[in-house]
This record gives sequence, C-alpha cells and structure tokens, in this order.
Amino acid sequence: MATINENFLKLFNNYLFSEIARKVKAFKENHPDRNVISLGIGDVTQPLPKASVDAMARAVKDMENITTFRGYGPEHGYDFLINAIIKNDYLPHGIELSPSEVFISDGAKSDCGNIGDILSINNSVGVTDPVYPVYVDSNVISGRAGNRTNAGWSNVIYMPCNAENHFKPRIPQRHIDIIYLCFPNNPMGVVLNKEELREWVDYALENDSIILYDAAYEAYIQEEDIPHSIYEIAGAKECAIEFRSFSKTAGFTGVRCGYTIVPESLTASAPDGRRVSLNQLWNRRQCTKFNGTSYITQRGAEAIYTEQGKEQVRNTINYYMTNAMLMRNGFEELGVHVYGGENAPYLWIKTPDGISSWNFFDQMLHEANVVVTPGIGFGPSGEGYVRLTAFGHREDCEEAMKRIKQWMN
Ligand code: PLP
Repeated sequence: MATINENFLKLFNNYLFSEIARKVKAFKENHPDRNVISLGIGDVTQPLPKASVDAMARAVKDMENITTFRGYGPEHGYDFLINAIIKNDYLPHGIELSPSEVFISDGAKSDCGNIGDILSINNSVGVTDPVYPVYVDSNVISGRAGNRTNAGWSNVIYMPCNAENHFKPRIPQRHIDIIYLCFPNNPMGVVLNKEELREWVDYALENDSIILYDAAYEAYIQEEDIPHSIYEIAGAKECAIEFRSFSKTAGFTGVRCGYTIVPESLTASAPDGRRVSLNQLWNRRQCTKFNGTSYITQRGAEAIYTEQGKEQVRNTINYYMTNAMLMRNGFEELGVHVYGGENAPYLWIKTPDGISSWNFFDQMLHEANVVVTPGIGFGPSGEGYVRLTAFGHREDCEEAMKRIKQWMN
C-alpha cells in the first residue's frame, strides 16, 4: 500500500489569500458597478527591462542554429550569468565569491523551500513572526516543524516583531540551529543596518547556527548603511546561505530566475561530528533534482547587468518606490502609523483604533473598494496590521489613496 507524506495533512490551507480572493469575488458580484483596486498584490505590474527581452529574443534565435543551439546546461548555471552576478552584485560591496559558490535557479521560492533537503530534520528552526509562509510550510512538509500546537509548531521558535522592537527580531536568548531572516522584509518592509545584522552573524557563529538569508528585495534598498548582502558582515561566509531573486528586481516573476550563494567555507556537523561542506551538499542536491534554468532565461537575466539593463531596472524600481512614497505620505497625512516602504516595496500599516486586521480589510473593501492584505495572515504578531505593496500601477495607487483619504476622514 502506497502511503502519503502525512506532513502534508498537517499544513494549514492557504487560508489568507484564498479568503481574500473569496471576499473580493463576493463583493464584486454584489457590486458589479464598483472598481476595486488591489494594493495587496504581491506580483509586479511593470514589464521586463527591454535589455532582457532583446537578450532573450537573441537567445531564442541561438536555439534555431545548429552551432549555437543549447541543450541541458550546467545544473548550477552558465558562467556568463554567474560571472555577471559576482561582478555586479557582490564585488562592488567588497565581497569576493568564486563561481562555484553561486547556484542559478528558477527563483528564490524554490531555493528557500528546497534548502532544507541538505539539513537534518532534527534541527530547531527560528522564524520571525510575521513571516513569509514558505519558510514554515517547507519545514512542515519535511517533518522538521514538529507538531501543531496552540502556540504554533512545536519545533519552530517564533521571534515576534512588533512596534516595540521596531519590527526587527530580537537576538534569541536560547540556541536555534537554523534561522530564517528576510531583509528587506516581506511583509513588514523593514531592514536591518550593518550593526544589527552583525549581531545575528555573531549569534550564529557563537551557536554554530545557519542563517538562511532571503535578500529577494535587496534591489529596493535606498539608504547607504543598509547591507545588500549578509556577506558584507565579517564571518557570514562561515554561517549563512543567501537567496536572491530576479523576480522583484527585474520583473522576472513569470520568467523565473534567482540564485543562491552557498559559500565554500560553510560547514555543518554530521552525526559523527565531522564537518561537512554545505556547498558540496547543495551542489549534489541540485545536480540530482534540478536540471538547470533555461538558457534563454539566463541570457535575459545576464542582460540586466548591461548599462542599458541597469538603467531600465533602476527606472522600474524608482517607479515602485515612488508608489511606496506616495502611499506612505498619504497614510502619514491621515495620522496612521506606517512602517516600511523606504527600503522595501512593502508598507506595514497599523490599523486605527485597534481594529482587527480582517475588520479593517473588510471595511476598506466595502467602503473604499481597496484591497489590502490582513497582517494576521503572516503570523499572530501581524494582528492589528495590514500589508500594502507598491507593485501597482501609479494611477491605481493615486486613486486608492484618494479613496482611502476620503473614507478615513
Ligand atoms: N522570498 C520572499 C521574501 C518573497 O516575498 C518572494 C516572493 O514573493 C520570494 C522569495 C519568491 O521569489 P521568486 O519569485 O524568486 O520565487
């Protein structure tokens, strides 16, 4: 008798986004005349950089010709993209990487979800609360999260982020083996400065922990002192894996490309106490289960590092960050507490008068016809907050803010 991985039965249904979709659908059916604007959207709206589109078109032509056709590529990516990443994303920050430390993939979600394959299911796991749900759910699937209790998963340590700690997790007072950090943060839009990130690296080194650092929104950082990579901190190559994505940087949500850095010097313990290279394990894992990102996609990603590509990416990020500023200013004028949106495309809004996340969502949908994401959906500490994203069209952001102002006034 074949049996299932029963851990799947432990997973919560994706209540948050299905519930939002259900409520919005019902509202639209009952009010077909209303134009509903979504500021909850987590997908980009601006098209790909032209440099990438042109490069992908050329790559398609390569596939037509017997001399330039490509079949299976290297599992961990083509050198042309790996070298462009090292040269443009790391060297300017003083970080030297060897090509064998860069693994190209089909996106950060796959890598964040799959990285647990190379780590024992007996490790304890630390996550922020609120959190990007993939970190927790992938640990539930593998059996590492333990059992569901009223306080969350038994083997997951939740690090609450609230106004008191400026939405930044405190350094744990106890030992945690694997820690997921995401900065700039989704959903809260906050960042860590170098000193703050250094404390995490020091903690990980002292505790022999691994930090899984999700830097999917690194391109949105505007301020000088904010690290773009965890490897800007001395010692991080001995304790951290970093995930990056072209999705929000260059509109690749539908094209699919990202990469993961696993330093050669990063090791963890085997049951017999030997230290084992995580780079070698991840390489083995990828070679076994992944056959590489398409040549066409990697040519498209490479093109964002050309002068033309860089300028186009900058323009798109400026566009979204102008949306973020516009929304921030709007909420500030209303006297609402607003966090994030300065180095990230996410704004974290305190609901007024202690209204619950879902009540605020419902009121805003019904009275202003604007959709946001209830913060409670990202974890218990998200109660009393909603998340807004800056990925919408400018005219939608402007219209939504106009409506919200009228409604809240
Ligand atoms: N990490 C975070 C924090 C995200 O918010 C997202 C997407 O929303 C991802 C990773 C996934 O990125 P990708 O599209 O590269 O899979």
